[in-house]
Amino acid sequence: MAMKIKNISGSGIFNLYRSKHYQFVPKHEPCNPDSVSLLQEFFNKYSEVFVLTGAGVSTESGLPDYRSKDVGLYDRSPNRPVLYKDFVSKIEVRKRYWARNFAGWKLFSSTQPNEVHKFLSLWEQKESLHWLVTQNVDRLHHKAGSQNVTELHGTSYLVKCLSCSNLFSRNLFQVILRELNPDFNVESTEIAPDADVHLNPELTKSFNVPDCEKCGGILKPDVVFFGENVPKEKVFELYEKVEKSDAVLVLGSSLEVVYSGYRFVLMASELKKCIGIINIGPTRADKLATFKITARCGDILPKIKL
Ligand SMILES: [Zn+2]
Repeated sequence: MAMKIKNISGSGIFNLYRSKHYQFVPKHEPCNPDSVSLLQEFFNKYSEVFVLTGAGVSTESGLPDYRSKDVGLYDRSPNRPVLYKDFVSKIEVRKRYWARNFAGWKLFSSTQPNEVHKFLSLWEQKESLHWLVTQNVDRLHHKAGSQNVTELHGTSYLVKCLSCSNLFSRNLFQVILRELNPDFNVESTEIAPDADVHLNPELTKSFNVPDCEKCGGILKPDVVFFGENVPKEKVFELYEKVEKSDAVLVLGSSLEVVYSGYRFVLMASELKKCIGIINIGPTRADKLATFKITARCGDILPKIKL
């Protein structure tokens, strides 16, 4: 039986995106064929590409970002990420942070890589991707199989002692927190970019947070908090990667964060390298770009032949 194929308008597709995994993807139009051709040319030409990914890549896995209009955390909630200085100086802030992170962990850690993560992993296997840097702390590139990855802002999947640098798995910490808080039965259905979900403050006051078992130091997720700097060695290593690459591709980032990857795009610009940007919204580096494609990364990248 012949099927009648209905023309799907831009807004129809948009409605499709709004459902399920796409609830945190900002409003956008489908990418046009010219953009696909342009991007294909880029992929044909460059073979040592430095790629930088941001929250816009993870929104397609069902994780919200902070800044996007309407769908970002800042637009939907009065909550703001905890500041480094508050975390290290106030026990009540650490109790609140870990209680919320504990409640949000199951959902956060169950997120899966999407088409973009899978594409980048495949690209790495084809040996044309020089290095992948992500501003995300969700481990989704690793889950997709990428190996040459630097997590610019660290990862939520590790816990670190601020005194002795003892480092261990966040999943193990979940077991420890459960043992110390047997009566804390709150599991969040909300999801946040770093698992920091909102809970009633009364609930978090009595949450038990352990110190480092080796030295008694403060335990913190191995994530660069707001008000904290990316380690210098990491930045210098990445400057070298930019130098050795022949082009830079920015995916799903507005590059607005203070300690963001903007500096690498700036360096690439000074070195006169080709800079491509794919993002739904404007970015801080649009003026530096050789080309800018306004699109959802997961809409355009799977159309590229590697
Ligand atoms: Zn320690």
